[in-house]
Amino acid sequence: MSPQAANAVVNLLGKSAEELRVFLESLGEPGYRGAQIYRALYAERRFDFAAMTNLPAALRERLSREASIALPQIVRRHRSSDGTVRYVLAIGEGKAANVETVFMPEENRQTICISTQAGCAVDCRFCLTATLGLVRNLTAGEIVGQVLVALEDNRAALKPQTNIVLMGQGEPLLNFNAVMAALRILLDPKGVAIAPRHAALSTSGIVPGIERLAREKVRPNLAISLNASSNEQRDKIMPINRKYPLEKLLEACRNYPLRPREWLLFEYVLLGGFNDSPEDAHRVVRLLANLRAKVNLIPWNPGDLPHKRPDPRRVEEFQRVLIEKGVPCFIRDSRGQDVMAACGQLALAESAASPASA
Ligand code: SF4
Repeated sequence: MSPQAANAVVNLLGKSAEELRVFLESLGEPGYRGAQIYRALYAERRFDFAAMTNLPAALRERLSREASIALPQIVRRHRSSDGTVRYVLAIGEGKAANVETVFMPEENRQTICISTQAGCAVDCRFCLTATLGLVRNLTAGEIVGQVLVALEDNRAALKPQTNIVLMGQGEPLLNFNAVMAALRILLDPKGVAIAPRHAALSTSGIVPGIERLAREKVRPNLAISLNASSNEQRDKIMPINRKYPLEKLLEACRNYPLRPREWLLFEYVLLGGFNDSPEDAHRVVRLLANLRAKVNLIPWNPGDLPHKRPDPRRVEEFQRVLIEKGVPCFIRDSRGQDVMAACGQLALAESAASPASA
């Protein structure tokens, strides 16, 4: 019996091409078999060794005993009238947990919003995920697996372009290594093959993480959840601001090495009567001076938390101030509102701590 058979079955999902090569060699197989499995798994989405017909039959049979492909399992699908699908997925490497993934079809593309942690420790006061606290970090396989499951579940209707946004549950920069391992597979032309310009990572403003991301060779676009026009205001809704106040956050943004045609995206949840005044808009303009920045305004959706939806006239006025001062500014079309799929407002009736219940 091989050492692998004597030990636990090895999950191959989330392994890089190099890790698969090493694993296959440990089985006494030629290293190029690793590249064949990498392609079958990520580029062709074959999740059953029996379907990897580019491998010899004896190897397929052996892998089915000694390895696994631990895909997240669909616990529930919530379909919105605009075509958005919110998935509750059970993940089970390590401690079992549920996370949420959202699939948003558009005319020529689909956007998949994925989670990077079960729950979150950052405690933003406008976010339902925060009420869970941190359950645990996701593994690279659990992050990649969300994209593969969403693509596979919509295989018949896929458009040519796929965008991914790391805006689901969790703070991606507090699970840096697993997030980057997943992104290297997702953005690899030989892997899931999503173009880096079609990927965005959203952070609450973890300054050391932004500095680390700046040094990565392959990286997604960076989005920063700003949501306030002063430290005093931001402290109230994003306690992380006490650790990384606006001056430090914006300094890290100014030092961020933007590629040609790359922009920093600042997200700004407009909470009625709190941060949506024209004075707030003018302060945001000053904060973003000398940055190649765009702003996404996200009018607050009514939900369980004690904030008010902003008056639509204030939203328009806010946008007008920014545009007049030369800051590109969009009002986010909040897709899938009826399934609560807006970022940071994922419905969590199915607690992240609860085990799978198909
Ligand atoms: S908005 Fe993001 S960083 Fe803030 S608590 Fe929610 S999941 Fe965490």
